Amino acid sequence: NSRYLNDFEELRSLGQGGFGRVALCKNKLDGRQYAVKKIRLKDRSPQVNEKILREVATLSRLQHQHIVRYYQAWVETEYGHHNILNASGSRTAESSIFSYDDISLSDAGGGNKQESTYLYIQMEYCPRTLRQDFETYSSSFDVDHAWHLFRQIVEGLAHVHSQGIIHRDLTPSNIFFDVRNDIKIGDFGLAKFLKLEQLDHDQYLPTEAMGVSMDGTGQVGTYFYTAPEVEQKWPQINEKVDMYSLGVIFFELWHPFATAMERHLVLSDLKQKGDLPKSWAAQFPAQLNLLRRLLSPSPSDRPSAVEVLQSELPPRMEDEWLNDVLRMI
Ligand code: ATP
Ligand code: MG
Ligand code: MG
Repeated sequence: NSRYLNDFEELRSLGQGGFGRVALCKNKLDGRQYAVKKIRLKDRSPQVNEKILREVATLSRLQHQHIVRYYQAWVETEYGHHNILNASGSRTAESSIFSYDDISLSDAGGGNKQESTYLYIQMEYCPRTLRQDFETYSSSFDVDHAWHLFRQIVEGLAHVHSQGIIHRDLTPSNIFFDVRNDIKIGDFGLAKFLKLEQLDHDQYLPTEAMGVSMDGTGQVGTYFYTAPEVEQKWPQINEKVDMYSLGVIFFELWHPFATAMERHLVLSDLKQKGDLPKSWAAQFPAQLNLLRRLLSPSPSDRPSAVEVLQSELPPRMEDEWLNDVLRMI
């Protein structure tokens, strides 16, 4: 009596993360494809489980054209019981906030029953990431296109921040393209959230501190994108940590790398010394100014997403307007 097995046909694995795996699935009811994330809740403290679930509730509030759409989430035990966290297709903020009492992890019988409790998250399937785009970026780089992608990322991020949410793991691997080639910010803080939790427990996470944090694909993950105040473990962080990450992504949008080694060397210099390639700085003076502010060591010196939207972007191109209109009809 598993809802997952009843309602979905698993097509293939999309990858394994630190805390669960994601599968491409076909929903038997509507025939559409979705990405379904499955997270094992076993072995986590009740506080961590509770935070994961609260995080999912937060995500369900985010509905924006540049944010990966979360449809629903539910919890299953090996006995097939499931609790729905938020209703499918709910469009109003009101109806998408689930009642937290519905999730009876603690009274699921405790002990043995909690052994196999899984959280499922059904979300929009995004066939590509920005990381993958960057692999072949040197042949496709185009100034207008770079602004176009950047604008979509900032629009999504401005919405996230307007909801009082900090992504905390904004990297090209967590920025997706949907089937229409529009930007969708995804992988919302869930894993990062959990990692921070671990950090609290272990005090110290050597791999991250050494800058060799690996993501599921074996690439160096978050190191280049992590704001200094996060590394220094300031007790209070705010949404400006995402603006730092955005700065590094902004730079990558304007600097195609020929090889992975070049990328590593240039981003290392930027991270460790704040150095930028001289020829690049001379070629893109306007971008240099914005980049410097996004990468400011002090969070308060970084512009907000709304400020970037209002005063840092070139006028929209004709076809961007047109696409927006077409999207609405
Ligand atoms: P970490 O645990 O460090 O966050 P991760 O981000 O790779 O690692 P997940 O977030 O669990 O782990 O994602 C696993 C894989 O599934 C990744 O390769 C990711 O690109 C892919 N993925 C996640 N969400 C989607 C989605 N909505 N559409 C398509 N693929 C997705
Ligand atoms: Mg990810
Ligand atoms: Mg992740």
